[in-house]
Amino acid sequence: MNRDSMLPLMTHCPICKALYPKEQVKLISEQNNAKLYHSTCATCGHGLFYYVIQGQAGVSAIGLVSDATGADASRMADAGIITGDDCIKAHKIIEKNSQDLCQNLLDIREKLA
Ligand SMILES: [Zn+2]
Repeated sequence: MNRDSMLPLMTHCPICKALYPKEQVKLISEQNNAKLYHSTCATCGHGLFYYVIQGQAGVSAIGLVSDATGADASRMADAGIITGDDCIKAHKIIEKNSQDLCQNLLDIREKLA
């Protein structure tokens, strides 16, 4: 991608203001006039997702700071859409196994302390 065609959001880390290396800006997905990019700051390590939407009125961009890596972003882009049925299944699993879930969380908490 040509740096001249990049938006400021795509060139600088919003946390530490470091310049992103051009190769750190990755196009994750593209649909119609919307593109999802991800970049990881080499200085502070924060990840950033941003949607760039090209409309008739111009270009809009929305950014979200994340701890997701570029590999996480690619995996998420390849994953299917989470449906309402998926949410209900997850709720039922958590409800059915809530005692085990709580015990596992407590076990992890003890390891973190
Ligand atoms: Zn940074």
